Amino acid sequence: MMSALFEADSLRSNQHLLNTTIIDEKLVASISGLLNRSKIPCVLWGNYLLTIHGVPSIVDSIDFIVPDGNIAASVLALQNQGLGSCTEPKSCTAIAERRPSPPPAAHFHIDSDFTVSIYKQSSALWFLPNLKLSSKSSSPPNIILASDSQLPPPRLGRGHGKFQNSTPQVYIPSAHCLLEAYIRLLARTHGHRYEFFWMAMITYIEEYVDGDGLLDEASLEARCRAFYSALKACEKPVALLLEDLEASFAGTEN
Ligand SMILES: [Zn+2]
Repeated sequence: MMSALFEADSLRSNQHLLNTTIIDEKLVASISGLLNRSKIPCVLWGNYLLTIHGVPSIVDSIDFIVPDGNIAASVLALQNQGLGSCTEPKSCTAIAERRPSPPPAAHFHIDSDFTVSIYKQSSALWFLPNLKLSSKSSSPPNIILASDSQLPPPRLGRGHGKFQNSTPQVYIPSAHCLLEAYIRLLARTHGHRYEFFWMAMITYIEEYVDGDGLLDEASLEARCRAFYSALKACEKPVALLLEDLEASFAGTEN
């Protein structure tokens, strides 16, 4: 198996090719493979994930979510694999205080601007019982392979699309699972500065994924579905929809 070091070097020398070749796909798969080799379940997150679902996004980090108890093990698994540690935390954009979304629990550098970040499951996918590939009996699945045939193909200006290769395996949230996460995160952060970020993500899903007919809206959790359908129908001003959403989760563990 090729080392992550080789892949990181490839990426550094091919920055202009990012999002247009499978070089970055190989890097993502290599990181997933390193985590899986240490028996750490991991699911892709962040902007790279958006590009697989056909949302055009600027990718400056490859992000994975792991169970909360596996953060230290993830750092160990990725150490000494050609990724750099953070040498300038004061100027690092990955953990800048003013970044628009929550910072990762740990991160490595491919270069000063491109990172590999690890997030806790409790920060985004806490509502899932585990991060494993959904069994065929649970329909439709929350977690799928990045090479799933139902994902969009690569399209010019529309992101990476589905993976062309399936090894090492990379797991991702399905479109409805991703939207549910964004809506739950919006409900969690209503009234705080992160709410604008999650609202933007929901808008991207509506415009690109739902717009492509690739969202299984009926599979959304009931409160999330009520919010999303009202948002699409412009039933009320967004501020009132947000109040309704927050109220629908009040008193629950969201
Ligand atoms: Zn850093």
